[in-house]
Amino acid sequence: MKSFSKFLSRLKDILGENKVFTQPKDLIAYSFDSSAAIGVPLAVVFPERKEEVVDVLKLIAEYKIPLVPRGAGTATTGSAVSHTQGLILSFERMNRILELNLEERIVVVQPGVLNGELKNYLKKFGLFYPPDPASYNYSTIGGNVATGAGGPRGLKYGTTKDYVLALEVGLPGGKIFWTGPLTLKGVVGYNLTPLFVGSEGTLGVFTEIVLKVVPLPETRVLLLSYHEKEEEPLEIISELLKALITPASAEFIDKTTLLALSKNKQIELHDKKVKSLLFLELDGTVESVKKELKKVEELYQMKGIFYHKADTEEKIESLWEIRRAVSPSVRVLGERKISDDVVLPRRNMKEFLKKIRKLEEEKGIYVCCFGHAGDGNFHVNLLFSSEKEEEAKSLRKAILKEVLNLKGTLSGEHGIGYVKRSFVAWELTPLQLELMRGLKKVFDPENLLNPEIKIPF
Ligand SMILES: Cc1cc2nc3c(=O)[nH]c(=O)nc-3n(C[C@H](O)[C@H](O)[C@H](O)COP(=O)(O)OP(=O)(O)OC[C@H]3O[C@@H](n4cnc5c(N)ncnc54)[C@H](O)[C@@H]3O)c2cc1C
Repeated sequence: MKSFSKFLSRLKDILGENKVFTQPKDLIAYSFDSSAAIGVPLAVVFPERKEEVVDVLKLIAEYKIPLVPRGAGTATTGSAVSHTQGLILSFERMNRILELNLEERIVVVQPGVLNGELKNYLKKFGLFYPPDPASYNYSTIGGNVATGAGGPRGLKYGTTKDYVLALEVGLPGGKIFWTGPLTLKGVVGYNLTPLFVGSEGTLGVFTEIVLKVVPLPETRVLLLSYHEKEEEPLEIISELLKALITPASAEFIDKTTLLALSKNKQIELHDKKVKSLLFLELDGTVESVKKELKKVEELYQMKGIFYHKADTEEKIESLWEIRRAVSPSVRVLGERKISDDVVLPRRNMKEFLKKIRKLEEEKGIYVCCFGHAGDGNFHVNLLFSSEKEEEAKSLRKAILKEVLNLKGTLSGEHGIGYVKRSFVAWELTPLQLELMRGLKKVFDPENLLNPEIKIPF
């Protein structure tokens, strides 16, 4: 690394003092994300135009300064933190919706637009952008694309990867390019767009994002059901899918998460026999929802399942608030948390849950296992006291091994970041790793972009 002070003064000359923060209080504010990883950067920059991003990328290549692009810093993996005392490139000020094309059904945004803001904007046109991480009100589209974010609607609508049409990407040295054409189809050359979705800021920096949008469903209805048999919601999801019903969302709350929600007063359980919950949302035309709802209610009645039904926007959103309260609520179970977001083939979810309960009992550490069960995606959170740190780490390893034994994958949407990098070689073969390292070299030969994360080198 050449002289950092020279680099900083050049940066300030180009961007202006008000776009380059170096005060300790600011650096600390940008030294963490939603994981336990911490890394204090040397400076944080706030470009307002893509030309300024290009200038920063030219300068980091000249001075060999590592750079971490950052949206809202809600990553749960340490991927939005500078682990090598480098520069944070914040997209907070590049937060404009640039164009909505109703005929093409595409929207062009700057990376710092919040997912929730985009949703509200599109609603006025009868449109929606389905990917909905629980953090949607405060996470950015740039961060969502870089992590490949998912959410409850993934079951019916897919995740971020299914909505990114093309990306404008900047590379160290300042070259800037589009990953593909802005047409709805295109097969000229290789398709680079999906390579960047989920790349966690390691291959390039997005300066503009083109997303596909879809018409808002005519209506929706949400059922919140209460189950005495913990695994029953997983069986219901399978039964519905086999009956060709695709809920918009099927979110599972297991026994331990339910305990956290009730301790945190997010839900009041009158029936102590209740072991799990299922949030099931149906959406579509009035006709189709009516038909599907009838089938689901018949199934629930046949099985003697108690449920609440919400069919107005207000009631639906107030029930979803319980689901959104899960991540903060699990904290009541322990001062320390280790979180993973593993994915299992749906057919193996029940077996995984059984193993989790056994391990939880054996080790005496709370294991919450909730989330997007419709996609096979469980958020596994271990909660424990600081004395149990080592036991929790070994429990985590046992759980991740179990995921791989059951033909699952270690992360479905949160990414690898810094905190899970040591497990990547458990899942990928040496050949896969070699090919991925080769790709990284093509885009970032000097390893300047988010250098300490994603792939073990
Ligand atoms: C309470 C809570 C609930 C959550 N629920 C979900 C959920 O349901 N589903 C889900 O998928 N995630 C969830 N997350 C995780 C997190 O919100 C997502 O990963 C989100 O996509 C991160 O967006 P961000 O703007 O905060 O990005 P950041 O955290 O700032 O960055 C995330 C990654 O994106 C990269 N990046 C950011 N901007 C750019 C850019 N312009 N160009 C290139 N790379 C960039 C960063 O370098 C980093 O690697 C949750 C987090 C919290 C705290």
